[in-house]
Amino acid sequence: MNAYMLGAEQQQIQDAVRRFAREKVAARADEIDRSAEYPEDMFELLRGLGWFALPFPEEYGGTGSTLNACIALEELVRVCYNTGYLLAVQWTPFAAILAGGTEAQKKQYLPALASGRLRGAISVTEPQSGSDVAGIKTRAKRVPGGYRIGGSKTWCTGAPVADFILLAAKTGDDDTRGSINLFFIQRGTKGLQIGRKEEKMGARGIPSCPLFLDDVFAAEEDRLGEEAKGFKVVMEAFNLARPIHAARGVGLAQGAIDHAVAYVQSRVAFGQKISDFQGVRWTLADMAMQTEAARQLCYRAAGMVDAGVSGRALAPYAAMAKCFATDTAMKVATDAVQLFGAAGISMEYPINRYMRDAKVLQIVEGTNQIQRNIIGNSILGRRSA
Ligand SMILES: Cc1cc2nc3c(=O)[nH]c(=O)nc-3n(C[C@H](O)[C@H](O)[C@H](O)COP(=O)(O)OP(=O)(O)OC[C@H]3O[C@@H](n4cnc5c(N)ncnc54)[C@H](O)[C@@H]3O)c2cc1C
Repeated sequence: MNAYMLGAEQQQIQDAVRRFAREKVAARADEIDRSAEYPEDMFELLRGLGWFALPFPEEYGGTGSTLNACIALEELVRVCYNTGYLLAVQWTPFAAILAGGTEAQKKQYLPALASGRLRGAISVTEPQSGSDVAGIKTRAKRVPGGYRIGGSKTWCTGAPVADFILLAAKTGDDDTRGSINLFFIQRGTKGLQIGRKEEKMGARGIPSCPLFLDDVFAAEEDRLGEEAKGFKVVMEAFNLARPIHAARGVGLAQGAIDHAVAYVQSRVAFGQKISDFQGVRWTLADMAMQTEAARQLCYRAAGMVDAGVSGRALAPYAAMAKCFATDTAMKVATDAVQLFGAAGISMEYPINRYMRDAKVLQIVEGTNQIQRNIIGNSILGRRSA
């Protein structure tokens, strides 16, 4: 891609995913939202098409491009947030393993995640600390050959279907962020209990659950990378994955526009189509303008990841993309509901689903206040008090 145009490869991906989304996914979207059941059929279709691999380096079977991943995700979320979420859930543990895994761990997990043979999840959040990652209390105590882990987690997305969970715990008695480590915990491990899924207003098709860890054993080689590097790895994984979450916002906003455009051209008030009212046209113009600005920030941050930019150089741009795109998704979806009038509130129409899903995006993967902190810190340095 040059700065302003998608290349041939990206256009091919966009065309293919757009067609698939319209033909195979769109008709399932409402049902997945209503039933709040995990869309196994969608997972199988995505696996068959090989699209889990998109952002993975070529050596692990992918295209090595976060931009490609963003373009695909955008098209899926445009019609179905939950189907797009299947890709995003797989891509956060991928980013963590890529950022901090040993060569052996990369070989073991990345091809399997890329092909969809294994499903991953990541669990950092705890009941008392979400934004404050350093405040987690789950402990991994050293024992011969590994660690024994005790504590509880919350909001682990994909936990009931995951083959493994990358789980954050503090080692030893040290309570600093430096003692945070990530551990591979396999499905069915003794002492791991997955609690009842949250009843959510959005992202309803993909379960998020609490986890309870009672003396769970993790071997030395189950620790992701070197000891005491976990906090840095979590932050870098979030950084690398933020363009992907921005793409979810862009796709959601575009989908809300699609529905609004169709509706305003069919609805009549005061003897004319509501699309002929200038107030409606300006609302749609603003929605399109904001979505396109979000898309450009998203592609820019994804392009930086693809160019190998990381750490502090990437952080503010990844945060700007995630924050702006997901705030835009919320605003555009809310405006779309407004254009539908009472129909926007009715469960008969899909547009309220976009508004409910957009709210989730402003909270997950670092709330948008946390994104603003990252951007502010990059401008002014960390606050002294
Ligand atoms: C659908 C869904 C799926 C999720 N999936 C996962 C998952 O798979 N794995 C996982 O580990 N977690 C997951 N989470 C948890 C998510 O990462 C946290 O909810 C998020 O980080 C916020 O944490 P919190 O909810 O504890 O809010 P808190 O951290 O308690 O924040 C409450 C409010 O205070 C604000 N705030 C906090 N600190 C600051 C600050 N320094 N400056 C300004 N404002 C601040 C926040 O922005 C927020 O508005 C998921 C959450 C949801 C809703």
